[in-house]
Amino acid sequence: MKNESDPLTRNHEGTIVVAMRKKFSTTSYVLFICLAFVLSSGLQGCSQYPLDTCLVTGKKLGTMGEPYVHDHNGTTVKFCCEPCLDKFNEEPDKYLAKLRK
Ligand SMILES: [Zn+2]
Repeated sequence: MKNESDPLTRNHEGTIVVAMRKKFSTTSYVLFICLAFVLSSGLQGCSQYPLDTCLVTGKKLGTMGEPYVHDHNGTTVKFCCEPCLDKFNEEPDKYLAKLRK
């Protein structure tokens, strides 16, 4: 009876250790992602978007829902809605001039 229960207990302990290790690596992974997120949002804060209006329509961002953010050759542009991207792509230089003012 004792000989049977001994390996079972060991096996059980081994499972717990593996489970704890798994939990630990997941936690540090989540922490790493959080840190990366904080760092990247901090960097974004340094180069703040100069306009609070849609580059195409001139409407205040957020009034049509979540602003649509687009990256144009490394330049961040924001629109009141996704269809504005099509209009922007027709004459990007014209709209980018607004941003540089
Ligand atoms: Zn729009």
